[in-house]
Amino acid sequence: MSDAERSIDDAPDGSTDEFEPIQVFPEAEEMDLRPGADNCYKCSTCDTNCPVAAVDDEFPGPKFQGPEQWRLKRQDDRDVDESVMKCSNCMRCDSACPSSVPLSQMHNTARGEYVDERMSKRSREYLRNRMLANYRRLAPLASTFPRTANAVMGLSITRWIGEKLLGVTSEREFPEFATETFREWWETRGGNAASKKRAREARAKRGGDADDAEKRIAYFHGCYANYNTPEVAKALVRVYEHFGYEVLVPDQRCSGTPMFANGMLDDARRAAETNVAELAAAIEDGADVVASCSSCSMSIRQEYPELFDFADTETVAETTWDAVEYLRVHEDLEAELAGTSVDDEFDSFAYHAPCHSRNQGLNGQTIEVMSAIDGVDVHDVGDSCSGISGTYGWKAENYETSMKIGEEMFEHMADADAEAGLTECPTCSMQMEHGTGYEITHTLEVLEAALVETGTDE
Ligand code: SF4
Ligand code: SF4
Repeated sequence: MSDAERSIDDAPDGSTDEFEPIQVFPEAEEMDLRPGADNCYKCSTCDTNCPVAAVDDEFPGPKFQGPEQWRLKRQDDRDVDESVMKCSNCMRCDSACPSSVPLSQMHNTARGEYVDERMSKRSREYLRNRMLANYRRLAPLASTFPRTANAVMGLSITRWIGEKLLGVTSEREFPEFATETFREWWETRGGNAASKKRAREARAKRGGDADDAEKRIAYFHGCYANYNTPEVAKALVRVYEHFGYEVLVPDQRCSGTPMFANGMLDDARRAAETNVAELAAAIEDGADVVASCSSCSMSIRQEYPELFDFADTETVAETTWDAVEYLRVHEDLEAELAGTSVDDEFDSFAYHAPCHSRNQGLNGQTIEVMSAIDGVDVHDVGDSCSGISGTYGWKAENYETSMKIGEEMFEHMADADAEAGLTECPTCSMQMEHGTGYEITHTLEVLEAALVETGTDE
């Protein structure tokens, strides 16, 4: 469990003070006040829950990466061990620890220190990692000429060059860019003014207060739903408007997830500062924040308050929700779905709960919600990690490990014999498709199919 999730009553020292981010690996002369780090009683639960340690004998595991390394460092002022770069940032150890040791925060801080102090800024690894972590900077260029970009990226020579020059695996196909981004669609559709009107009409139709200003959400769509899968983002807008919510789409940058995973903490800090300021302004305007990507919501809810202390970081973390979770809490979603159905071609799914959903306590919600739709059959493919963990499985040296981790999920998906895969994480979706050939959809798309009349909104 993360500090962000933890109630103040659960604070290790029983204090009721709000959590303050503290440097995990301090300067030699500083006293480390990191709360919780000394709580490790070496039970090794984190190690047995680590998917990388399970298949890679050389990876020392989260107990070493976190509390043990911290203790060594405190005694001897040692450098951070390079094996921290083999951690995929799945955060399963963080959830598994029974003693509230802030493993994820320790790993993120250690990775940042390793990259800052020990990784050559001219190395191929650094350039590759920086590029993968900053996908958001490359995507607008590819999106300007999506057909050309897709054609070039689809060539086997491009993949070969990517592996030889940069160390990006040639085994995976690059995801395609949409011909129209979500934000382009949103602007063409009329932006917030159009959403406000639609939400007002929906509230009146549902017999509610047409002027209810409470029903307002700010959508954090992240990079992938904007540039690659705008259909997921459109589904979110339509489903929320169906319930009478006015949607705001604030300016935003990458959530920072791939930056944390690659130790690019300065990049993550810049992105987070913009996101916190923009989302705080929307909250001030009466909105709650929702995200369609499980890694984006986790980053804002957990990693921002663990690592940054900008004004409003805590407020934004506390006001951010997973998009389906929000509807389950604020609406009677299951009653709304009762009696609905979806196309026959679209009614049998193999569902994978992403690690970052589990970390937010959301595993189980999709199965429950989907079972309320008539005729929909959802097979939970178990609690294993998909193995891709964002940029981790895109690195040539991690590809085999990534596929080994994913084996259990692939087998369960094959056994499910469903018509499509279902998940809420874009990179888990890539791994599911890559390992099984299943077409993958997002839970919000199924909700849209069940709740929203087709053809009413292009
Ligand atoms: S699970 Fe927690 S208490 Fe157990 S070894 Fe890992 S860090 Fe220590
Ligand atoms: S975040 Fe995942 S890969 Fe990294 S140490 Fe923890 S369990 Fe292992």
